[in-house]
Amino acid sequence: MIQENVAKLRIRMAEAARAAGRDPKEILLCAATKMNDAAAVRQAVEAGVDCCGENRVQELVQKLPQGAYDGVPIHFIGHLQTNKVRQVVGVVDLIQSVDRLELLQCIEKEAAKKGLVQDILLEVNVGGEESKSGFTVEEAREMAARMGDFPSVHLRGLMAIPPISQYPGENCKYFAEMRKLFVDISEKTYDNVHMECLSMGMTDDFADAIAEGSTMIRVGTAIFGPRNYQK
Ligand SMILES: *Cc1c(COP(=O)(O)O)cnc(C)c1O
Repeated sequence: MIQENVAKLRIRMAEAARAAGRDPKEILLCAATKMNDAAAVRQAVEAGVDCCGENRVQELVQKLPQGAYDGVPIHFIGHLQTNKVRQVVGVVDLIQSVDRLELLQCIEKEAAKKGLVQDILLEVNVGGEESKSGFTVEEAREMAARMGDFPSVHLRGLMAIPPISQYPGENCKYFAEMRKLFVDISEKTYDNVHMECLSMGMTDDFADAIAEGSTMIRVGTAIFGPRNYQK
């Protein structure tokens, strides 16, 4: 089932890429693994997803020793509390959800302590939603320019979760705004910044995200099926 879902998703990704005049190889597939167990995650890895994105530290530390992610990079994509930073820094390859200065400072401190450099993305609250964390577009611009202040952190790009859309195409404007921000920062020369990853697009809107320049989509439902929130 999971294998079939990933295969179908790859076809839809390739269609979306070609429709936008892009090479399908430019777009990576991150499996959003929250609430799915190690066995399911393993199936997704075996089906060829490019990386796994975990939302909760508790799930990360549980599935890690079970070998859930073996063979692919591990990303953290959920809201990260500062008191759990220690369990994530140096454990995951990329923290996509750096959504506030306090968290960035905490990651810097922990990475320095461990003597490593942690790759991160800045999370942008591109829809300006009250309920979501993340930097504004302007703040993200300023943060990128200041990355030299954080020698144990390396900025690799941007992540966004736009508002839940009511109809197809509704979020294109937000994706386009993210793309512009991504290109603007890429064109600058800042210390500790290499813009490689523009992480946007999920099950319901990944085709629009790819059309607007996403280089990584994060997909849960279309790979694993609906999540069971009762469990
Ligand atoms: C759950 C989640 C996704 C995937 O959502 P689906 O709609 O199930 O594809 C992507 N990104 C983040 C940050 C998530 O928490």
